[in-house]
Amino acid sequence: PGCLYLVGTPIGNLEDISMRALRILKEADMIAAEDTRNTKKLCNYFDIETPLMSYHEHNLAVGGEKLLALLHEGKTIALVSDAGLPCISDPGADIVEKAIAQNFPVVPIPGPNAALSALIASGLTPQPFYFYGFLNRGKKERRQQLELLKKRQETILLYEAPHRLKDTLKDMEAILGSRRIVLARELTKKFEEFLRGTLAEAVEWSQTEEVRGEFCIVLEGNSDVEEENQEEAYWYTMSIIEHVD
Ligand code: SAM
Repeated sequence: PGCLYLVGTPIGNLEDISMRALRILKEADMIAAEDTRNTKKLCNYFDIETPLMSYHEHNLAVGGEKLLALLHEGKTIALVSDAGLPCISDPGADIVEKAIAQNFPVVPIPGPNAALSALIASGLTPQPFYFYGFLNRGKKERRQQLELLKKRQETILLYEAPHRLKDTLKDMEAILGSRRIVLARELTKKFEEFLRGTLAEAVEWSQTEEVRGEFCIVLEGNSDVEEENQEEAYWYTMSIIEHVD
């Protein structure tokens, strides 16, 4: 019977692939990949000869139909993204929803994930945490999103592209004010690095350094408030106004 496996793959270090992931990738009838060229390299490295097809942001509908047809034929599909877990700021959620709606088993094959790896080594409170993924690329939208994040008390996890990090950090400092931040750079790779400090320090760092590599952002939650109630909401509003002033 058809089955959809969601297979976690390395976020840099190929040794992080699991034995089970390798077996599923070998045994599957088809590997659906975000970028077949990337996944081909992974397959070559591990001597995996399973056929590949592409399933990415821009072919969710057509790719999804093809995957469903394969499931109906009784095929097993291993869905992978370029790095880490499918569906986490990567394609996958769409086909998962459709496969479940048609009663196909959906099986997670756990593997590396950038956000959680950053979180556990950040030194900030690991739970509760709030995973946000990428902020919007537009400045206005990004600032609106940060205004919403401002009141969250959980540790916040974000992804960001290196060429946007500098601007994002500036917006964060302007909107979130003073709090601790950890930048996890190049996780599992040769030049893995953790930058820990305050938002102001992070902004300063990003001005002087050339920002290169892959980054996860771990942000301390809002520690000013105990709980969400009417009074607190009022207080938040005041503090935002005070901040703007
Ligand atoms: N699905 C992936 C996962 O499970 O972590 C996330 C994919 S998302 C499109 C890519 C973003 O994840 C990058 O822009 C970066 O923020 C973060 N990322 C991926 N690999 C990383 C690494 N080795 N070190 C730090 N951040 C990484």
